[in-house]
Amino acid sequence: MSSYQTAIEYVSQTLQKLSEQGVEMSCAAASLARLGPVSEAESLRVKEEAPVEEALVPRVAASPVLPEAHRPQTVPEQRPVPKAKPEMGGDKSARLEALRGPVLSCSLCPHLVASRTHVVFGVGNPDADLMFVGEAPGEDEDLQGEPFVGKAGQLLTKIIEAMGFQRSEVYIANVLKCRPDMPGGGPGNRKPKASEMSTCLPYLKEQIAIIRPKALVALGATAMEGLLGETQPMARLRGRWHQLEGTPVMATYHPAYLLRNQSLTEKRKVWEDMLLVLEKLALPISEKQRQYFLNKA
Ligand code: SF4
Repeated sequence: MSSYQTAIEYVSQTLQKLSEQGVEMSCAAASLARLGPVSEAESLRVKEEAPVEEALVPRVAASPVLPEAHRPQTVPEQRPVPKAKPEMGGDKSARLEALRGPVLSCSLCPHLVASRTHVVFGVGNPDADLMFVGEAPGEDEDLQGEPFVGKAGQLLTKIIEAMGFQRSEVYIANVLKCRPDMPGGGPGNRKPKASEMSTCLPYLKEQIAIIRPKALVALGATAMEGLLGETQPMARLRGRWHQLEGTPVMATYHPAYLLRNQSLTEKRKVWEDMLLVLEKLALPISEKQRQYFLNKA
Protein backbone atom coordinates (compact mmCIF):
# COMPACT_ATOMS: atom_id res chain seq x y z
CA MET A 1 0.00 0.00 0.00
CA SER A 2 1.30 3.47 -0.95
CA SER A 3 1.53 6.36 1.49
CA TYR A 4 -1.28 8.02 -0.47
CA GLN A 5 -3.60 5.06 0.08
CA THR A 6 -2.55 4.90 3.75
CA ALA A 7 -3.52 8.57 4.20
CA ILE A 8 -6.88 8.02 2.53
CA GLU A 9 -7.48 4.98 4.75
CA TYR A 10 -6.57 6.94 7.87
CA VAL A 11 -8.84 9.89 7.01
CA SER A 12 -11.67 7.49 6.12
CA GLN A 13 -11.38 5.65 9.46
CA THR A 14 -11.35 8.98 11.37
CA LEU A 15 -14.48 10.21 9.59
CA GLN A 16 -16.17 6.87 10.33
CA LYS A 17 -15.43 7.25 14.06
CA LEU A 18 -16.73 10.84 14.08
CA SER A 19 -19.87 9.68 12.25
CA GLU A 20 -20.42 6.92 14.87
CA GLN A 21 -20.14 9.62 17.52
CA GLY A 22 -23.02 11.49 15.83
CA VAL A 23 -21.04 14.08 13.99
CA GLU A 24 -22.60 14.89 10.57
CA MET A 25 -19.90 14.07 7.98
CA SER A 26 -21.95 13.16 4.89
CA CYS A 27 -20.41 15.86 2.71
CA ALA A 28 -16.89 15.00 3.75
CA ALA A 29 -17.58 11.25 3.37
CA ALA A 30 -19.06 11.75 -0.08
CA SER A 31 -16.04 13.78 -1.18
CA LEU A 32 -13.75 11.13 0.21
CA ALA A 33 -15.64 8.36 -1.59
CA ARG A 34 -15.17 10.20 -4.87
CA LEU A 35 -11.42 10.12 -4.39
CA GLY A 36 -11.60 6.33 -4.16
CA PRO A 37 -8.58 4.05 -4.20
CA VAL A 38 -5.62 5.08 -6.23
CA SER A 39 -6.21 3.81 -9.73
CA GLU A 40 -3.68 1.55 -11.45
CA ALA A 41 -3.05 4.31 -13.99
CA GLU A 42 -2.34 6.76 -11.15
CA SER A 43 0.06 4.29 -9.60
CA LEU A 44 1.95 3.86 -12.90
CA ARG A 45 2.14 7.62 -13.39
CA VAL A 46 3.79 8.00 -9.99
CA LYS A 47 6.32 5.34 -10.93
CA GLU A 48 7.03 7.08 -14.23
CA GLU A 49 7.76 10.34 -12.43
CA ALA A 50 10.36 8.68 -10.22
CA PRO A 51 13.97 9.48 -11.04
CA VAL A 52 15.40 7.34 -13.88
CA GLU A 53 18.04 5.66 -11.70
CA GLU A 54 15.32 4.67 -9.16
CA ALA A 55 13.25 3.13 -11.92
CA LEU A 56 16.17 1.04 -13.16
CA VAL A 57 17.67 -0.03 -9.85
CA PRO A 58 15.51 -2.34 -7.72
CA ARG A 59 14.51 -0.75 -4.43
CA VAL A 60 15.88 -2.43 -1.33
CA ALA A 61 14.96 0.21 1.26
CA ALA A 62 11.93 -1.75 2.41
CA SER A 63 13.99 -4.82 3.19
CA PRO A 64 13.71 -5.87 6.81
CA VAL A 65 16.68 -5.08 9.03
CA LEU A 66 18.41 -8.38 9.69
CA PRO A 67 20.68 -9.21 12.62
CA GLU A 68 24.30 -8.51 11.79
CA ALA A 69 25.14 -12.17 11.38
CA HIS A 70 22.37 -12.72 8.87
CA ARG A 71 22.91 -9.65 6.76
CA PRO A 72 24.10 -10.41 3.26
CA GLN A 73 27.79 -9.78 2.95
CA THR A 74 28.94 -7.18 0.48
CA VAL A 75 30.75 -8.98 -2.34
CA PRO A 76 33.66 -6.93 -3.66
CA GLU A 77 33.49 -6.20 -7.32
CA GLN A 78 35.38 -8.89 -9.21
CA ARG A 79 37.73 -7.12 -11.57
CA PRO A 80 39.74 -9.17 -14.08
CA VAL A 81 43.35 -9.45 -12.91
CA PRO A 82 45.57 -8.01 -15.65
CA LYS A 83 48.03 -10.60 -16.91
CA ALA A 84 51.68 -9.69 -16.63
CA LYS A 85 53.28 -9.11 -19.96
CA PRO A 86 55.85 -11.78 -20.80
CA GLU A 87 59.38 -10.60 -20.24
CA MET A 88 60.75 -9.70 -23.67
CA GLY A 89 64.39 -8.79 -23.24
CA GLY A 90 63.81 -6.11 -20.64
CA ASP A 91 66.70 -4.55 -18.79
CA LYS A 92 69.34 -7.27 -18.83
CA SER A 93 71.49 -5.50 -16.24
CA ALA A 94 68.58 -5.31 -13.82
CA ARG A 95 67.68 -8.94 -14.40
CA LEU A 96 71.26 -10.05 -13.85
CA GLU A 97 71.41 -7.98 -10.65
CA ALA A 98 68.18 -9.59 -9.48
CA LEU A 99 69.80 -12.98 -10.02
CA ARG A 100 73.05 -11.98 -8.35
CA GLY A 101 71.53 -11.74 -4.86
CA PRO A 102 70.25 -15.34 -4.66
CA VAL A 103 73.49 -16.65 -6.14
CA LEU A 104 75.71 -14.76 -3.70
CA SER A 105 73.73 -16.11 -0.76
CA CYS A 106 73.38 -19.64 -2.15
CA SER A 107 74.13 -22.46 0.26
CA LEU A 108 73.18 -25.50 -1.82
CA CYS A 109 76.69 -26.95 -1.48
CA PRO A 110 77.52 -26.69 2.25
CA HIS A 111 81.07 -27.98 1.76
CA LEU A 112 81.79 -25.22 -0.76
CA VAL A 113 80.08 -22.59 1.35
CA ALA A 114 82.39 -23.52 4.24
CA SER A 115 85.54 -23.00 2.19
CA ARG A 116 84.70 -20.20 -0.23
CA THR A 117 85.84 -16.59 0.14
CA HIS A 118 83.58 -15.23 -2.57
CA VAL A 119 80.84 -16.54 -4.78
CA VAL A 120 82.05 -15.75 -8.30
CA PHE A 121 78.92 -14.68 -10.15
CA GLY A 122 80.29 -13.57 -13.51
CA VAL A 123 81.43 -10.35 -15.14
CA GLY A 124 81.05 -8.44 -18.37
CA ASN A 125 78.58 -6.91 -20.75
CA PRO A 126 74.96 -7.94 -20.11
CA ASP A 127 74.28 -7.34 -23.82
CA ALA A 128 77.25 -9.37 -24.99
CA ASP A 129 77.03 -11.34 -28.23
CA LEU A 130 79.80 -13.59 -26.99
CA MET A 131 80.06 -15.42 -23.67
CA PHE A 132 82.98 -17.46 -22.33
CA VAL A 133 82.27 -20.23 -19.83
CA GLY A 134 84.85 -21.93 -17.65
CA GLU A 135 84.48 -24.76 -15.19
CA ALA A 136 84.91 -23.12 -11.76
CA PRO A 137 86.71 -20.36 -9.88
CA GLY A 138 90.28 -21.06 -8.90
CA GLU A 139 92.18 -19.75 -5.93
CA ASP A 140 92.72 -16.27 -7.43
CA GLU A 141 89.10 -15.96 -8.54
CA ASP A 142 87.84 -17.04 -5.12
CA LEU A 143 89.93 -14.32 -3.48
CA GLN A 144 88.91 -11.56 -5.92
CA GLY A 145 85.33 -12.62 -6.64
CA GLU A 146 85.81 -12.38 -10.42
CA PRO A 147 86.25 -15.16 -12.98
CA PHE A 148 89.47 -15.62 -14.96
CA VAL A 149 91.71 -13.15 -13.14
CA GLY A 150 94.75 -15.41 -12.58
CA LYS A 151 97.38 -16.27 -15.18
CA ALA A 152 94.90 -18.29 -17.22
CA GLY A 153 92.51 -15.36 -17.06
CA GLN A 154 95.18 -12.98 -18.31
CA LEU A 155 95.77 -15.27 -21.28
CA LEU A 156 92.03 -15.40 -21.94
CA THR A 157 92.00 -11.59 -21.97
CA LYS A 158 94.74 -11.64 -24.63
CA ILE A 159 92.71 -14.08 -26.73
CA ILE A 160 89.63 -11.88 -26.41
CA GLU A 161 91.60 -8.81 -27.45
CA ALA A 162 93.16 -10.67 -30.39
CA MET A 163 89.63 -11.37 -31.54
CA GLY A 164 88.98 -7.62 -31.61
CA PHE A 165 87.00 -7.28 -28.36
CA GLN A 166 87.67 -5.59 -25.07
CA ARG A 167 87.26 -7.92 -22.12
CA SER A 168 84.40 -5.69 -20.91
CA GLU A 169 82.52 -6.26 -24.17
CA VAL A 170 82.01 -9.99 -23.63
CA TYR A 171 80.56 -11.88 -20.66
CA ILE A 172 82.63 -14.35 -18.64
CA ALA A 173 81.26 -16.88 -16.14
CA ASN A 174 81.80 -20.38 -14.82
CA VAL A 175 79.55 -23.40 -14.55
CA LEU A 176 80.34 -23.58 -10.82
CA LYS A 177 80.11 -20.33 -8.89
CA CYS A 178 82.10 -21.42 -5.83
CA ARG A 179 85.69 -22.63 -5.76
CA PRO A 180 85.94 -26.40 -5.33
CA ASP A 181 87.24 -26.99 -1.82
CA MET A 182 90.72 -28.39 -1.31
CA PRO A 183 91.61 -30.96 1.36
CA GLY A 184 92.43 -29.17 4.59
CA GLY A 185 91.72 -25.83 2.95
CA GLY A 186 95.02 -26.10 1.10
CA PRO A 187 96.18 -24.15 -1.96
CA GLY A 188 95.66 -25.12 -5.58
CA ASN A 189 92.59 -26.12 -7.50
CA ARG A 190 90.70 -29.31 -8.14
CA LYS A 191 88.31 -30.31 -10.89
CA PRO A 192 84.67 -29.78 -9.90
CA LYS A 193 82.51 -32.88 -9.53
CA ALA A 194 79.70 -33.52 -11.98
CA SER A 195 77.21 -33.38 -9.09
CA GLU A 196 78.52 -29.95 -8.02
CA MET A 197 78.24 -28.60 -11.55
CA SER A 198 74.74 -29.96 -12.06
CA THR A 199 73.65 -28.33 -8.79
CA CYS A 200 74.94 -24.94 -9.89
CA LEU A 201 74.16 -25.15 -13.62
CA PRO A 202 70.68 -23.56 -13.37
CA TYR A 203 72.31 -20.27 -12.34
CA LEU A 204 74.47 -20.24 -15.47
CA LYS A 205 71.52 -21.19 -17.65
CA GLU A 206 69.61 -18.27 -16.21
CA GLN A 207 72.51 -15.95 -16.99
CA ILE A 208 72.58 -17.26 -20.56
CA ALA A 209 68.80 -16.84 -20.85
CA ILE A 210 69.11 -13.21 -19.75
CA ILE A 211 72.15 -12.28 -21.85
CA ARG A 212 71.10 -14.34 -24.87
CA PRO A 213 74.55 -14.36 -26.50
CA LYS A 214 74.87 -15.33 -30.14
CA ALA A 215 77.62 -17.78 -29.25
CA LEU A 216 79.14 -19.48 -26.21
CA VAL A 217 82.73 -20.62 -25.89
CA ALA A 218 83.23 -23.49 -23.46
CA LEU A 219 86.76 -23.36 -22.10
CA GLY A 220 88.00 -26.87 -21.42
CA ALA A 221 86.58 -30.37 -21.33
CA THR A 222 85.23 -29.96 -17.78
CA ALA A 223 83.19 -26.92 -18.83
CA MET A 224 81.78 -28.99 -21.70
CA GLU A 225 80.90 -31.75 -19.25
CA GLY A 226 79.16 -29.27 -16.96
CA LEU A 227 77.32 -27.52 -19.79
CA LEU A 228 76.35 -30.42 -22.02
CA GLY A 229 77.29 -33.61 -20.20
CA GLU A 230 79.99 -34.27 -22.81
CA THR A 231 82.77 -36.52 -21.52
CA GLN A 232 84.83 -36.86 -24.68
CA PRO A 233 88.35 -35.44 -24.73
CA MET A 234 88.67 -31.90 -26.00
CA ALA A 235 90.56 -33.11 -29.08
CA ARG A 236 87.25 -34.59 -30.28
CA LEU A 237 85.00 -31.76 -29.09
CA ARG A 238 86.85 -28.68 -30.32
CA GLY A 239 86.63 -27.13 -33.75
CA ARG A 240 82.90 -27.73 -34.21
CA TRP A 241 79.63 -26.31 -32.98
CA HIS A 242 77.48 -27.82 -30.26
CA GLN A 243 74.12 -26.58 -28.98
CA LEU A 244 72.90 -25.61 -25.53
CA GLU A 245 69.14 -25.04 -25.67
CA GLY A 246 69.44 -23.27 -29.02
CA THR A 247 72.65 -21.35 -28.32
CA PRO A 248 75.69 -22.37 -30.40
CA VAL A 249 78.58 -23.59 -28.25
CA MET A 250 82.18 -23.72 -29.46
CA ALA A 251 84.43 -26.00 -27.46
CA THR A 252 88.11 -25.20 -27.11
CA TYR A 253 91.00 -25.77 -24.76
CA HIS A 254 91.13 -23.99 -21.39
CA PRO A 255 93.75 -21.21 -21.31
CA ALA A 256 95.42 -23.07 -18.46
CA TYR A 257 96.09 -25.87 -20.95
CA LEU A 258 97.93 -23.42 -23.18
CA LEU A 259 99.99 -22.24 -20.20
CA ARG A 260 101.08 -25.83 -19.61
CA ASN A 261 101.53 -26.53 -23.31
CA GLN A 262 103.21 -23.58 -25.02
CA SER A 263 103.47 -25.11 -28.50
CA LEU A 264 102.31 -22.90 -31.34
CA THR A 265 100.42 -25.86 -32.73
CA GLU A 266 98.10 -25.94 -29.69
CA LYS A 267 97.77 -22.15 -29.69
CA ARG A 268 96.80 -22.31 -33.35
CA LYS A 269 94.08 -24.86 -32.54
CA VAL A 270 92.52 -22.51 -30.03
CA TRP A 271 92.88 -19.62 -32.45
CA GLU A 272 91.20 -21.55 -35.25
CA ASP A 273 88.29 -22.18 -32.89
CA MET A 274 88.10 -18.44 -32.25
CA LEU A 275 88.12 -17.74 -35.99
CA LEU A 276 85.07 -19.98 -36.26
CA VAL A 277 83.44 -17.92 -33.50
CA LEU A 278 84.17 -14.67 -35.34
CA GLU A 279 82.65 -16.14 -38.48
CA LYS A 280 79.56 -17.22 -36.51
CA LEU A 281 79.20 -13.65 -35.23
CA ALA A 282 79.60 -12.35 -38.81
CA LEU A 283 82.50 -10.17 -37.74
CA PRO A 284 85.26 -9.14 -40.18
CA ILE A 285 88.51 -11.09 -39.92
CA SER A 286 91.71 -9.43 -41.06
CA GLU A 287 94.40 -11.27 -42.97
CA LYS A 288 96.71 -10.74 -40.03
CA GLN A 289 94.20 -12.43 -37.74
CA ARG A 290 93.92 -15.36 -40.12
CA GLN A 291 97.69 -15.84 -40.03
CA TYR A 292 98.13 -15.82 -36.21
CA PHE A 293 100.43 -18.67 -35.09
CA LEU A 294 100.89 -19.91 -38.64
CA ASN A 295 104.07 -18.21 -39.79
CA LYS A 296 105.79 -18.86 -36.47
CA ALA A 297 104.76 -22.51 -36.27
S1 SF4 B 1 78.57 -23.88 -6.20
FE1 SF4 B 1 76.67 -22.96 -6.97
S2 SF4 B 1 75.00 -24.24 -6.15
FE2 SF4 B 1 76.86 -24.67 -4.93
S3 SF4 B 1 76.77 -23.25 -3.19
FE3 SF4 B 1 77.98 -22.23 -4.78
S4 SF4 B 1 76.47 -21.00 -5.90
FE4 SF4 B 1 75.30 -22.53 -4.72
